[in-house]
Amino acid sequence: MLTYCRTNKGRVHFVVVFILTRFAREKYDHFALRSHLKSLGISRRSATEPIDDTATGKLMEGVLASFAQFDNDVRSDRTKAGMKAALEIGRWTFLAPIGYINVPKSFGKSLIPDPERAPGVRRIFEGFATGQFTQQELLAQVRRSGLTTRKGLPLSSQAFGTLLQNPLYIGIIDVPDYGVRWKRGDFEPLLGEDVFYRVQAVLSGRVQLTAPRQRSRPDFPLRGFVRCSVCDRGLTGSWSKGRHGGRYAHYHCRPTCRAVNIAKARLEGLFVDELERLQPTPGYIRLLKESILTVWHERKTAVRNELETSSERRRRFSRSSIVSTKRSSSLVQSIPKRTDCSAIGFARNSPSYRSIGTSQLEELDVEGILAFVERVLPKASDLWVHASLDQRQRLQQLFFRRECRSRENALVEPL
Ligand SMILES: [Zn+2]
Repeated sequence: MLTYCRTNKGRVHFVVVFILTRFAREKYDHFALRSHLKSLGISRRSATEPIDDTATGKLMEGVLASFAQFDNDVRSDRTKAGMKAALEIGRWTFLAPIGYINVPKSFGKSLIPDPERAPGVRRIFEGFATGQFTQQELLAQVRRSGLTTRKGLPLSSQAFGTLLQNPLYIGIIDVPDYGVRWKRGDFEPLLGEDVFYRVQAVLSGRVQLTAPRQRSRPDFPLRGFVRCSVCDRGLTGSWSKGRHGGRYAHYHCRPTCRAVNIAKARLEGLFVDELERLQPTPGYIRLLKESILTVWHERKTAVRNELETSSERRRRFSRSSIVSTKRSSSLVQSIPKRTDCSAIGFARNSPSYRSIGTSQLEELDVEGILAFVERVLPKASDLWVHASLDQRQRLQQLFFRRECRSRENALVEPL
């Protein structure tokens, strides 16, 4: 209509509407349109309302436009209130996320798993929960596997990030915009909570990614991990033919630098020595274990007392209790990574202690975990010697926060 008015400027004098609410729903639009038409020399007339260009007509129009706006707002409030009420009782009122399908009310639930895509979504979570893949790696795998959106499009990396954080997959409705927080949905979860929370821990960095840097070349576990002290690039490894026909493995720097060229056996021997030097003695670990246990029991008692004194707080805790258990399991995973006293300080300052429910306190087998640490840590160098490439790279990351450096024929101290 507007195009017609514009192209026929000067020949159109009136636009007649049946009722003003049909003219424009928003008050702002109404007046913008009116001045636009006026600039084309066009007045409006309503078939059912007394508007014209007189003072009374203009006032009338203003009142009517405001009513139109009001009517519109009430409608949208009502829709929003209706959706909020539905969400509150566990009905998902929006488009189903990938892995679910929306179903009619007669099903008794709002979503059912999409038989075609649900297994793919489960695989994504399980894969990411291992902490062995970066989001990009996993997304590439997902795209290769042919999992698409309902429109048949490949998943975008943003959609993938959102998917990994969506609590709907554990049957939880959380829509802050509608003031609906953490309600149990009327549909079945697609995932176990353990997998979901493990994924959240990996996403937030509470559990370190242990994605091995190189998956190939098991011959050179220290490749890229030990750096050249001259040019600071990671060493690479290769096999070369010796003078007497045999093949020799060595680590070396890039051709443009060549500052380091060291036999594989020698560098790995030096590395094992270094590990042996760093690995805590059984006596030290025993002390560490006792300190952690003391702090643990103190905290446990303190938290229990705190919980008993305040029932209001207890209610809040039980709501966040699931989160707390997962948080504390990530705490546990970081204990073996720390071989110094900071582990104690870490335990003392950890927020998990403060926000944990009593039942979760009982479930966490701290003694068991520490016993494991006591068995494993003092033997780190042996473990490294006998481990697979994958395990070796993880162990390296566990012990050294930064890479080692190599100069001439020696390993420069990394820490
Ligand atoms: Zn170099």
